[in-house]
Amino acid sequence: MNPTVKVIGSGVGGLATAIRLASMGMHVTVYEKNSFVGGKVHSRTFNGYRFDMGPSVFTEPHLIDELLELGKSRNTLTYSALPESGRYFFEDGTRLNVASGTEGTIKCLVEELGESYAGSKKYLKRIQKNYRALYPVFIETSLHRWKHLFTSKILRALWYLPNYGLLTTMNGFSKRYFQHEKTVQLLNRFATYNGSDPYQTPGLLSIIGHLELNVGSFFPVGGMVSISRNLEETARSLGVEFVVDSEVQSIETENGRVKGVQVNGVFERADIVVSNADVHQTYERLLPHIERPKKILGQEMSSSAVVFYWGIEREFSELGVHNVFFSKDYKAEFQAIFKDKTLFDDPTVYIHISCKVEPSDAPSGCENWFVMVNAPVDIGQDWSNLVQELRKKVLRKLSQMLHQDIEALIRTEHINDPITLQQTYNGKGGSIYGNSSNSSMAAFYRHPNFATKVKGLYFAGVTVHPGGGIPLALNGAKIVGRLIKEDYQQAVP
Ligand SMILES: Cc1cc2nc3c(=O)[nH]c(=O)nc-3n(C[C@H](O)[C@H](O)[C@H](O)COP(=O)(O)OP(=O)(O)OC[C@H]3O[C@@H](n4cnc5c(N)ncnc54)[C@H](O)[C@@H]3O)c2cc1C
Repeated sequence: MNPTVKVIGSGVGGLATAIRLASMGMHVTVYEKNSFVGGKVHSRTFNGYRFDMGPSVFTEPHLIDELLELGKSRNTLTYSALPESGRYFFEDGTRLNVASGTEGTIKCLVEELGESYAGSKKYLKRIQKNYRALYPVFIETSLHRWKHLFTSKILRALWYLPNYGLLTTMNGFSKRYFQHEKTVQLLNRFATYNGSDPYQTPGLLSIIGHLELNVGSFFPVGGMVSISRNLEETARSLGVEFVVDSEVQSIETENGRVKGVQVNGVFERADIVVSNADVHQTYERLLPHIERPKKILGQEMSSSAVVFYWGIEREFSELGVHNVFFSKDYKAEFQAIFKDKTLFDDPTVYIHISCKVEPSDAPSGCENWFVMVNAPVDIGQDWSNLVQELRKKVLRKLSQMLHQDIEALIRTEHINDPITLQQTYNGKGGSIYGNSSNSSMAAFYRHPNFATKVKGLYFAGVTVHPGGGIPLALNGAKIVGRLIKEDYQQAVP
């Protein structure tokens, strides 16, 4: 008989796992604590301004296409390649528009920052090679099952070992190739894509930049929320059941195996449970009777964020879809976040404006600004005070750099901070990616996609292997699909 699967959480990791398991013929139910499906990939509209509430950078769209093809409803996600990967603003007035793709990136670095063509090309080629070598071994594969690792691909990955920058930081790795501190700052920003500090995270993680710099990013028609909507429809077409407004209270086990979940006061039997919830919260809240993997869960947490969703009554031609207003002292900013656990005085501000590609996302002549600042996780700071102070600093910074009183243009406002992020998605302390990658062994300190102490329990989502961001969550789901197929060979056709 086909196994019964309960998935806890409907983030992209949960949705992708549900699709993969249902397409193998399993009976899948997804429980979601919120009233909406999609986790952080969901959308809200305030006074005519539509906002994607979480992710805005979309890379590797083929991973979504692959999932939609498994469905019976022939869903397709339409998306377009963005001509620019981002616009960067520095305090001294320097502005960079980085065109998509390797040559566009090189052109900007050479012409605007005086970097050498050969050095820029060498760096971009290196991160591409590293990415391609590591992808099949560390991203598409479970690091925690020997038989997954012993393939010819591991030899290729090992061949490149000296080039990964394992013995330096992301900051040190970029400095090997570039002279200009602005280039290094721009490249350091990719550490934040998995909630880490570029002055601590290993040089190996420079591969994060490959997708945006060598390939470019995309944007889905209808906004980022189209990703989760299409995944949900595909899952439904395969018979997946969704139960919203239903927070799972515990994972029930017997003799070292899962036997079901407790939800809405009722026990629901399951052969397999997949947790898409934050791995820390899964152990602390749902499995209090099971010994936790202390070493893994004792690592430093990733960053959280403060996000201002502002409806702006004006258009800014100098802004694009993705904009970054850098701090003058980037190193001190990361120290504030990870060491002092506070917000920095001169924060780096990221602004995403989806109406640049989806005009209906804002009223005519207006723009929907998603304004994000990296923040520490909640450890009891006075967030209402910190956020109000931050709001003033962000407004001052943007007003100065854009030569316009921004506060006077705000027509609608909504704010998320580590507390609301924790309340909405159950991420520990509002962390976005679970553990940070601020150590050379970070990749090995991410929780595997299965529980070692409970048979039948698996994990998918950005807080476990292979890590943060939509593409990695989708790869995690692929790994879970493969593990379950191996573990339930008799039951799966
Ligand atoms: C502000 C912000 C910006 C981001 N920007 C980007 C970006 O540009 N690009 C990118 O790729 N990624 C970005 N990310 C990260 C992004 O959110 C993830 O890549 C991805 O959406 C997370 O998917 P997930 O499957 O891990 O989990 P989540 O989206 O966190 O979903 C987990 C789900 O589990 C539910 N849940 C938790 N506990 C329970 C329970 N006990 N019972 C039932 N349900 C439960 C939660 O409600 C939630 O819906 C961003 C995140 C944030 C917050």
